[in-house]
This record gives sequence, C-alpha cells and structure tokens, in this order.
Amino acid sequence: MAYDLLISNGTVVTADAVYPADVAIAAGAIAAILPSGSRADAAQIRDAADCYVIPGAIDAHLHQSMRTAAGLTVDDWQTGSTAAALGGTTTVVDFVDALPGQSLTDALAARLEQARPAVVDYGLHMSIQPDIDPGPTGYMRRVSETRIRQMRDAFDSGCASFKMYMAYAGNQLSDADLFRALREVADLGALACVHVENGDVIETLRQLAGTDLAWVSRKENPPVNGLGAGILHALTRPPESEREAVIRAMTAAELTGARMLIFHMGCASATEALGAARARGVDFIWGETCPQYLVLTDDCLRREDGRLWMCSPPLRPQADQDAMWKLVSNRTIDLISSDHCPFNQTQKALGINDFRKVPNGVPGVETRLSLIHHFGVRRGRIDLQDWVRLCCARPAEMHALPMKGHIAPGADADVVIFDPGLSKPLSAGELHSALDWSAYDGITVDGWPRDVISRGELIVRDGRFVGQPGRGRFIRRSP
Ligand code: MN
Ligand code: MN
Repeated sequence: MAYDLLISNGTVVTADAVYPADVAIAAGAIAAILPSGSRADAAQIRDAADCYVIPGAIDAHLHQSMRTAAGLTVDDWQTGSTAAALGGTTTVVDFVDALPGQSLTDALAARLEQARPAVVDYGLHMSIQPDIDPGPTGYMRRVSETRIRQMRDAFDSGCASFKMYMAYAGNQLSDADLFRALREVADLGALACVHVENGDVIETLRQLAGTDLAWVSRKENPPVNGLGAGILHALTRPPESEREAVIRAMTAAELTGARMLIFHMGCASATEALGAARARGVDFIWGETCPQYLVLTDDCLRREDGRLWMCSPPLRPQADQDAMWKLVSNRTIDLISSDHCPFNQTQKALGINDFRKVPNGVPGVETRLSLIHHFGVRRGRIDLQDWVRLCCARPAEMHALPMKGHIAPGADADVVIFDPGLSKPLSAGELHSALDWSAYDGITVDGWPRDVISRGELIVRDGRFVGQPGRGRFIRRSP
C-alpha cells in the first residue's frame, strides 16, 4: 500500500525502547512501524537519519490568554500553540476559568470559541474557584453547591480534570471547599490538578513584608533594599509553606479517594513528602515539575530585573534543583509540563517598586522538550526513554489522551523528528512566543525539533512553522 508519509532511517524513541525503524503514516494515524530503510511507497518521505523520532510531546499545563489583574497573558491560542508546535509539542491542555455566576459549561463554550485558532490539538482542565463572596474583604470566598453540582456537566463535556488552588487571594479554596470538590472528583473518577502552597501563611508573610521588611528578609544576605526586590517573592513563599500544603493536599486526597496530580513541584522537601506517601503505598497521587525548577535557581530573583522570574511556587536554591533531578530520575516525579504563563516586561514592571504587584509566571512552552533533553539526557541525569516518558507518555496517560504520547500502529500520527545535532540559542528573538523576553536568554541547547507532524500533517518543516491556524481540535477527555 502507499502511505501518506514515511519517516525513514530515524531512531525511534518511546518510553519503553530505542530502536532504528521507519514510521509509516496514513489517514492521520500511524499505520506501521517498518524495518529501517524499508523504502516503503509513500506520497511524501522525510529522512530522519541521525535524528530521534519521538511521539509529539504533551504539555498539560500552560496559560494562554488567561485573565489576570495585570491583563491577559500575552500568548493567545494561536501564538501559544504555534510556539508549542515549533518546540515539538503537539497537544496542550489549558484551563477554563468561569466567572462568578457563569456556569461551568457556559465558561467552557466561551473558552472553546477563544481556542479556535489553535494549531495543535488541545484539551481543557476546568478550574474550581470560589464563586460566593460573603463579605467586603472578598479574601476567603466559598465554592457554592451549584458549582459542585456543575462539575458533572463539565466532566461530561470532556473536562476530565479539575484545577484547584490552595493559594492566591481570589482563587484559594478553604480546606472545606477543597474537601467538597475532591469528593466530587472522586465520585466522577476525574483527576484533581492542584496548586499546592499554604495561601494563608503566604498572604500573612506578604503583608508583613510591608510592615516589617527586616524580619521577613532576615535570612537574606546582603539585606534587601526595598519592596521591589524579587527575592522577596521566594522569602514570602518559603519551602515550609509548600511542604505543609503538600501534606495537607495529600491528606485530603486520601480522605476522599480523589486522584490527584500536584502541579509544579520544585521544592525538594515538599517533593520528598510525596515520595514518602508513595513509599507507603499511595498510588493515586502524582507529581509534576517544570523545566524552570530543573534549570534555574532563586539567583534569578536576585537580579535587578528579578521580577521577570517570579513564578509560583518560586524558584528555589541550587540544592533543591539538584535534589529535584534525583526525584525526577527515581520517578517520584511523574511528568514535566511547562506552566507557560507569559507576562511581558511592561506587565512585570507593575511591581517594579513592590514585588506583590508583579504578575506571576515564566514562559516555556517552546523550550520544554529541548531543555529536558539538554539538561537531562545530555548531562546524563536521565536517559532517552525517561525523556519521552516524562514529556510524552506519562502526560498522555495521566490526562486521558489515549491516542497521544506513543508511537504504535493506530495512534494519532503526532510525531517529532528531533535533531540532536541542532544548536539553538534560547533568546526571545529565536523563539515564537509573543513575549518580549526569554527566561533562558544566554543558554544554547544542543538538540531541537526539526520536523513536527500532527495527525499526519507536517506542521513544522526544517524548523519553520508551515501549518494553518485553526487546524487544532478539541479533545473531549474521559478517563
Ligand atoms: Mn499554579
Ligand atoms: Mn499554572
């Protein structure tokens, strides 16, 4: 038979094996894995000699056009998903944030409309935020019974996962609300994705920074010179506030039986608490980390422009980064996402004199796969199969994407031809986010996606985007 596309002479890397093979594609799906050099008949042939042929990567944590007090994140669904594609990511899972009074399904419909220009396939997590404001402070609001009931509608509409926050005024759930929402997650057989920090402790420390800066920064040397210092972000979100919240989140998951993914773990002591739970047999709580916690440290926050690197949870010291690589390689951490949350320099400058006004987030949707290859595989911390497991296979399993994340007959033909011989400087000018800065400026990675195929269609050719806006499809996820 004649195939639509043949990827020839490459080295196929999956979570289980590394072997030379040709990959034949027909009708948007992988049709066959053939012996290398098969010379099979195909309408189009891409030679992948000296390249890895891997499943399209999955990034299940990013924020495109997210509403915040500092305005929208600067990447919309077109620029964000195009940057994803150029970095080898062929599926993204973003979020739906309902407004108070708006039903979850109405919010989903509005978000789907916004997502139409996407160039890669996408899913959506449904956020569960407080929707009742009981008083003038608006600080500790509540989740209504109506919201809890609406979770089943969202689930039936293809949101197989629910996002919850244990920090951030406005988004933070009380322990009671977390428990109620997790009970529903357990009932549905869905997945809870949780931002885990102790919001009350953090809020108190942030207020204290305004009244007793010397005390809040007593461990910092040299002392901070004012509220504009970026390191205050880390000092007011200490490791203890993350570790405690991880233990509390896991307790709630165990009490309710809810499956839980703890988002963006970069704090060693907090992640070791997850490891301890796993060691005593808890097999339904998992951990995600992100490249920023494996490549950067809190020294970025000590720069003059340290506010750019303010993300939550914060970047940690080198010792945490070293420990996190071990927790990645020993599988305490299950998967790596970007938490791409792009705010430009103007938005970040809102907090130039007060770190509390800086919108939190760093970019990374385009750089994730190559950073983990460069700093993980090339540095000998993980192997090629680990790389594919962390960035492709486990995200597909965790987030109910059975057609994605592996190379096998019948799977969607989402494939990346990754050239380990390509060098790429990670400056803003070399990347495709709408952002005016890069968190990795000055770093050059060895290894970059050369060609990217999504459902059989070549959308990146020789490092250039050649796909069409709007070709991405919404994936209704069901566990
Ligand atoms: Mn978060
Ligand atoms: Mn996030």
